[in-house]
Amino acid sequence: MRPIIIAANWKMNTTPADAGELAATIASRTEEPGVVRVICPPYVCLAAVRDALAGTNVAVGAQNVHHEAAGAYTGEISAAMLDGLATWVILGHSERRRDQLESDELIGKKLARAVSAGLRPILCVGEVLSEREAGKAVEVVANQLRGALTGKDVEVLMNAGFVIAYEPVWAIGTGRTASSNDAAAMAEAIRSCLSADLHWGDFAEQVPILYGGSVTSANIGEFLAEHSIDGGLVGGASLKPDEMAAMVARAAVTARARAEAGV
Ligand code: PEP
Repeated sequence: MRPIIIAANWKMNTTPADAGELAATIASRTEEPGVVRVICPPYVCLAAVRDALAGTNVAVGAQNVHHEAAGAYTGEISAAMLDGLATWVILGHSERRRDQLESDELIGKKLARAVSAGLRPILCVGEVLSEREAGKAVEVVANQLRGALTGKDVEVLMNAGFVIAYEPVWAIGTGRTASSNDAAAMAEAIRSCLSADLHWGDFAEQVPILYGGSVTSANIGEFLAEHSIDGGLVGGASLKPDEMAAMVARAAVTARARAEAGV
């Protein structure tokens, strides 16, 4: 049975002075059984959020990690530096693909580095609007998956708790979402790619796939009603405790339903 996950991507928001209080508020308002919760603040807020979440079962994640172990990379953060601060990491977010020109190959290296450091990765994939309009969304996402995952040991990834987030780029921060049908179809296409192209066998069905892109409490139910979707990677709405409380409460409904159905 795949877990239901709500992951908060705070992006470049909050400061060390206010992040802890926000994290603690969200943790106390989202205590729902059966939902895995993760908060990914900026690097400089990791310690404050870790301290605020001590004693809760909300995990802390980073938003990126460097692909090398150490060295002359000014301004960068290695996986080892996250030890004791974060247990999850977001990789290949479209804002980094766009602004830092991260390639699938580079993201694949980050993935290997993160997993070897014991971090649980969320690999983001998704097409831009012109690609969707040209009918190329599945092809683009499959290329991203093949580029980052070819040659990776699936058992090592699965032991690390590997998660994929399907985030259509045109839906991120725009208030526009994919339809739940399209998101579910993409989740199925992702599993087909893992199985047919990357030969992951049964593991393809075991990877949690999140939807991301303007998720709010008003629309998360549509995505969670899809069996192929296992939660959300949430940006803007994850900074609002009321929104997080409502989204996690809705996620708990799906978690309960799946547990009862044994699926
Ligand atoms: C994200 O940051 O991954 C994201 C999906 O952002 P938003 O929810 O704001 O669209």
